[in-house]
Amino acid sequence: MDCTFCKIVAGDIPSNIRYRDDDVVAFRDINPQAPVHVLIVPKEHITLLSDLTKEQLALVGHMVSVANQLARSEGVCDSGYRVVINCGYQGGQLVPHLHMHLLGGRNLSGTLG
Ligand code: 5GP
Ligand code: ZN
Repeated sequence: MDCTFCKIVAGDIPSNIRYRDDDVVAFRDINPQAPVHVLIVPKEHITLLSDLTKEQLALVGHMVSVANQLARSEGVCDSGYRVVINCGYQGGQLVPHLHMHLLGGRNLSGTLG
């Protein structure tokens, strides 16, 4: 499948990987919107948040857990951070492979949307 994030997961496109386990990979965003900007993606190709089945919902909990862990290791846990999942065209999703943004290291208030 011609999917950028599947290629990153497979190692076919280089990226700055920060975390990897059986279910997810996390890597730095190529066009960071904050000093800390990491993307957490499931290894399995799921296109949209709205495609998730009941059986797959635990995956999102795991992505939040990884985001929390990365926030600690990236040093933004105490200062605060934001996690975002964009869904679809008007949701601002450009890459059609489910991903969670972890943003931190600057004041993000007032920047939602
Ligand atoms: P979206 O708008 O779909 O929620 O976010 C997609 C994000 O993926 C953007 O912030 C964009 O900078 C990032 N991105 C797109 N292509 C690549 C890539 O090849 N490598 C990395 N590391 N990030 C990418
Ligand atoms: Zn994919």
